[in-house]
Amino acid sequence: MQDLLIICDNLIKIYKVDDLEVVALQGLDLEVARGEMIAIVGASGSGKSTLLNILGGLDNPSAGRVTVAGHDLTRLNERQRTRYRGLIVGHVWQQSGRNLLADLTIADNVDLPQIFKGVSASRYKRRTRELLEIVGLGDMARKKPDQLSGGEQQRVALAVALANEPSLLLADEPTGELDSATTQEIISFMRGLNKEMGVTILIVTHDVAVASVVDRTLAIRDGRTSTETVRRNQPLLATGGASVVVGLPGETHQESIFIDRVGILQLPAEAMEQVALRGRADVRIASDHVELWPSGLHEHDQDAEQSDGSSAVIGLSLRLHYETILVDRVGRLQLPRETLERVPFNGRAQVRIASYHVELWPMSVESNMPEQAGQHAGRKDEK
Ligand code: ADP
Ligand code: MG
Repeated sequence: MQDLLIICDNLIKIYKVDDLEVVALQGLDLEVARGEMIAIVGASGSGKSTLLNILGGLDNPSAGRVTVAGHDLTRLNERQRTRYRGLIVGHVWQQSGRNLLADLTIADNVDLPQIFKGVSASRYKRRTRELLEIVGLGDMARKKPDQLSGGEQQRVALAVALANEPSLLLADEPTGELDSATTQEIISFMRGLNKEMGVTILIVTHDVAVASVVDRTLAIRDGRTSTETVRRNQPLLATGGASVVVGLPGETHQESIFIDRVGILQLPAEAMEQVALRGRADVRIASDHVELWPSGLHEHDQDAEQSDGSSAVIGLSLRLHYETILVDRVGRLQLPRETLERVPFNGRAQVRIASYHVELWPMSVESNMPEQAGQHAGRKDEK
């Protein structure tokens, strides 16, 4: 069993502003193993900060469950919540002013959370010295934040966030105000902290380069996790195109979408653009993957029949099953229950866009898949 640090189950967050309701999270599921470093990407307004605020104990979900390091965050009383925020999580924000107190020295800033924890002076002074050494600012202890560069300030912010040895470090666009060289430096630095201290890290970022450093990159769309990009343990030899969401090379990264327990998933925008599903799809269950065809097409279209034949796994008899499902404008759909029973998706699928249809492959069969089926969503078929 994986040791899960974070479990989000069907998280919903609705903000009420006057008479208006804004749905910031709409049934978000997320599992993060202890020790992982994960990047979260997504358009502005997609719910990234809302998720981090909930995980940081700063905000409560409207519905759903969230557990971090064994703490059920929806059931904390005020005292427990304060303790959770001070000891279990560390938070780094984009703006230095939110991370550091401008009137205090760097060392005082790092002391502060430890003082709140009740650590003795001799111990917190030693720990602060250590932390400032770790972030490479041992000789800056007496300076004020405004005497440091932006990158240095963010490194102090990391020291502050890590002062009480949290299990989870949350960073909401921590490099948003830094140039790309400094961004790279901070990210590699965070990766080092992740590896050496074992602290689990979630980092929200716009910077695609970040995604090549982390274990997994999750894309959030409309308040739900929509795509996942994982680094391959063994890079593919064949060119696999680029992953859709973060644009990483297919040889080294594998992108997949999420399928929740009841079979709801959202197709990547590229699949929606390239295959004209127009609101309905026929579901076809092959022995080891699922195909989504524009309604009626697979039965009548000769070309489609042929391209289908070459894309199926050779030598296995296909068990066919047809069913039409609805696909909404943003590509969300629910797979029939039989699909889930017959094809072991276990929560994730790789998307392959064929000439006339979309294929969903479980992750576990990657090594058995024909080379072309290992392509990422977004790669057009070469005919
Ligand atoms: P992101 O960090 O991905 O840009 P947010 O989580 O900040 O997105 O916001 C998600 C949605 O929730 C947006 O539509 C935003 O306007 C709305 N929202 C966020 N915070 C609040 C709030 N405190 N009050 C009302 N609406 C909010
Ligand atoms: Mg945000």
